[in-house]
Amino acid sequence: SGRWDKAAAILRELKDKCRTPIGKLRQVADDMAFEMHAGLASEGGSNLKMIISYVDNLPTGDEKGLFYALDLGGTNFRVLRVQLGGKDKYVAKQEFEEVSIPPHLMVGTSVALFDFIAEALKKFVDTEGEDFHLSPGRRRELGFTFSFPVKQSSIASGTLFKWTKGFSIDEAVGQDVVGELTKAMERVGLDMSVTALVNDTIGTLAGGRYYNPDVVAAVILGTGTNAAYVERAQAIPKWHGLLPKSGEMAINMEWGNFRSPHLPLTEYDQAMDVESLNPGEQLFEKTISGMYLGEIVRRVLCRMAEEAALFGDTVPPKLKIPFILRTPHMSAMHHDTSSDLRVVETKLKDILEISNTSLKTRKAIVELCDIVAIRGARLSAAGILGILKKLGRDTVTEGENMRSVIALDGGLFEHYMKFRNSMESTLKELLGKASETIVIEHSNDGSGIGAALLAASHSLYL
Ligand code: ADP
Ligand code: MG
Repeated sequence: SGRWDKAAAILRELKDKCRTPIGKLRQVADDMAFEMHAGLASEGGSNLKMIISYVDNLPTGDEKGLFYALDLGGTNFRVLRVQLGGKDKYVAKQEFEEVSIPPHLMVGTSVALFDFIAEALKKFVDTEGEDFHLSPGRRRELGFTFSFPVKQSSIASGTLFKWTKGFSIDEAVGQDVVGELTKAMERVGLDMSVTALVNDTIGTLAGGRYYNPDVVAAVILGTGTNAAYVERAQAIPKWHGLLPKSGEMAINMEWGNFRSPHLPLTEYDQAMDVESLNPGEQLFEKTISGMYLGEIVRRVLCRMAEEAALFGDTVPPKLKIPFILRTPHMSAMHHDTSSDLRVVETKLKDILEISNTSLKTRKAIVELCDIVAIRGARLSAAGILGILKKLGRDTVTEGENMRSVIALDGGLFEHYMKFRNSMESTLKELLGKASETIVIEHSNDGSGIGAALLAASHSLYL
């Protein structure tokens, strides 16, 4: 029928606009490497902030003692403690707790947010058992993973540039986030020092390195996305401080804000961006990360409902609610292997209150999920190739035995199998022969453990 033709046309056009042929991905990778150079050359030289993390010594495995970490930067925040046993023992014992952040605190006041966090941390400290040992005469020390763009001024201080991922508390922008946390800990009566402020990506890099010296970069694919890597200090023109002894510096790329004329963007991406909390920013993140994939799918479905009456004469009211279709729902539909697409049917009913869809419609929805997810996955692979290019590790040199490990973490990478498989196979395809020397490693919970490790390697008692 005419309606169906219209729906098919919308899908076809989307597919065309979202195409990511290898040539385009190579251009994206080249742009990434170029922007990395520009961001290292001067402050504000690129959309890539290429933030100097002040982490010039990644953990070695020798760290010992009890350390805490706090991970803020997604829908949940986590508190954890580790007992580090030094060489060969590594993490002797660890415990964590996850707390969801009430949405009103994400857009409320700075004091309310930090008090909530400090309170949860205090409760967690109160449950510390006998397996954990604080060395006599020491205060507890904490690594703070704060996964928003921060301008670091030392390993344990930094001011917030801007919020992302649904957080928006104006008064906190420009403030030292360690100062805010420390004040809140004092208000709730928690005796603890914050000795490292890190981004989740830097934490993941540290966590990866702790176990494997070949780790050169870390990528987060979760609610948001970001990457970090180890740079030669000599290759950072904008760094005017003393060269670190190690000769290295971990760089937080903030790659979510990457942009390139070669990114395949659609009218749906543009509309979502304009209506977002941070219009014009984080365009790469908005194309590939978990916060946005489901929303893009919803927007296309909305259009198909409006213009092609895909779900009948009226547009289902739930479908008009932004962000109602979350990426885990999208993933569940995308992976539906039942012959009559029962999962798709259930999701449509449960989340969007849409029933009586035809199999043809449900098939179109699976294809829609595929288009949006695969674009994101392939662009992620292109981003990783960009980093490898910058490091000169994207090719094999005869006789050289170089291995590069990329530590990956985040719920999208962990749980969205079609996304993950596409990302990994695309990277292989892009690297060709060199793919034998590159390893993608899932760094489970690197961000939390990594912050605790960095608190240890930057302890006040060293
Ligand atoms: P955060 O990025 O908030 O720190 P995670 O790394 O755990 O947290 O990632 C959570 C994100 O991962 C979710 O917002 C969601 O987008 C994505 N995600 C979680 N589970 C799934 C799933 N089953 N399928 C697809 N995406 C998922
Ligand atoms: Mg996280």
